[in-house]
Amino acid sequence: MLDAHPRVAFISDIHGNIDALDAVLADIRDHGVQAVVCLGDIVGYGGAPAECVRKIGDLCPVVVMGNHEAMTVFDDIVYLEEMPSSIRRPIELARTSLTNEELSWLRELPLVSKIGCFTAVHSSLHHPGEFPYVFRTEDARRNFKAQTTPVSFHGHSHVPIIWEERGPVVKAHKPALSNVRLSQQHRYTINVGSVGQPRDGDPRASYVIYERENRDVTFRRIPYDIESARRRIFSTRISGRNADRLSIGE
Ligand code: ZN
Repeated sequence: MLDAHPRVAFISDIHGNIDALDAVLADIRDHGVQAVVCLGDIVGYGGAPAECVRKIGDLCPVVVMGNHEAMTVFDDIVYLEEMPSSIRRPIELARTSLTNEELSWLRELPLVSKIGCFTAVHSSLHHPGEFPYVFRTEDARRNFKAQTTPVSFHGHSHVPIIWEERGPVVKAHKPALSNVRLSQQHRYTINVGSVGQPRDGDPRASYVIYERENRDVTFRRIPYDIESARRRIFSTRISGRNADRLSIGE
């Protein structure tokens, strides 16, 4: 069904930030996008996990599992007691505020989804269940080894970037302000950045619009009500550090 849509939006790492999610969805509506793919980490860090899960569940035909979903629904992924409170408290909040049905939905999410000419994953296509990061060229190279489509989209690091594989050469390109046309000759894996907790020094929400026909990628940065997101964090007794980082984009 997604194959029929010429213009698809990719969102990732919402992290319980409904204020940022609503601003991004409004921008998506303004851009003639037919479908929204969610690359995981709907919950964690922020104060409104249930609101975000409900909205994503209603809206997105394709959703893959992030490490914060895995921590929420599987007891054996990490020892939650050993996690810092900035991670532990929001996971406990997700566990208590989601219904059993919503928790089951999270448990059933796939790690990887292949849709026609692209693949969606939260971390990397190389051992996606271990949630490795794509920070260095070697990480991107490992991802490309496991990638069977010309283009893949991921999140996880909260830093938007385009990785390009040209034969044996793999290199990174910073997201441009205007749209980027991907070459038909090369392969790509694209980090769409984070909706709810950007970490590249720009506090605005990040997401990507992909136009299939021309292989055009557009990185969008959307201002939203950060103060409201901070208030939700304080009202749920989640670590103040999670609120402070929203203001600086770290
Ligand atoms: Zn994340």
